[in-house]
Amino acid sequence: MAQWRERWSLTRRIGIMGGTFDPIHYGHLIGAEEARFRFGLEKVIFMPCGQPPHKKDYPVTPARHRLAMVLLATASNPYFQVSTEEIERPGPSYTIDTIRSYRERFGEALDLYFITGADAILEILTWKENTELIRLTRFIGITRPGYDLTALNQRLPPSYLERIDILEIPTIDISSTQLRQRVCTGEPIRYLTPDPVRDYIAKEGLYRNANQKTEVGR
Ligand code: NAP
Repeated sequence: MAQWRERWSLTRRIGIMGGTFDPIHYGHLIGAEEARFRFGLEKVIFMPCGQPPHKKDYPVTPARHRLAMVLLATASNPYFQVSTEEIERPGPSYTIDTIRSYRERFGEALDLYFITGADAILEILTWKENTELIRLTRFIGITRPGYDLTALNQRLPPSYLERIDILEIPTIDISSTQLRQRVCTGEPIRYLTPDPVRDYIAKEGLYRNANQKTEVGR
């Protein structure tokens, strides 16, 4: 028992919550909190992408706005932190670069979990250096209620599946796409994202026009 305690105290267990967060909403926040609790994570570090690797030709809202909204949304949770690492790194925000930098800083004495949407993890075989990535970190795939795991089980090899935990979150079906569309068509987003994020979107006039996205990534 004493030995177990010692190992537990030496090994830090951290979650990195990766996403574009365009914008952040309660689904992301509930997912991060649930992952923290279920997996005994010391903290969850929100990591907004600078330039999402698979959206090179698809404009996303400038990173400064996405970061501001993530900071506003996470401020009240002492277990949540926000990193600007991917935003500051030039070029596409490859997950392998982020995970490597954590491994270089903390070595093997770190239980690392990369948390993101299960639909994003479904594409992991197309991610840069994914064989090395899955060796360096475990994954937590956040799903919405009713998510069908067949595609994941059929597409990914067993050696990947054993490094991926699926976490279904108890929430209503919310997505960033829906939020953008609702703002664009003048529908309310209250109770879908924290009030400070809703106020920020209104103040900055984000998502009002479907073609408004002005910059790729940063
Ligand atoms: P995406 O393709 O826009 O999203 C796919 C699905 O996952 C959507 O339903 C999305 O819902 C959901 N999702 C995304 N992030 C989530 C999160 N943190 N928690 C819960 N659901 C989430 O995904 P993305 O945001 O561009 O990429 C997700 C992460 O994978 C990022 O950290 C990205 O850097 C990484 N990634 C890396 C590579 C690579 O290294 N080559 C390639 C692709 C993605 P919402 O739209 O509501 O968020």
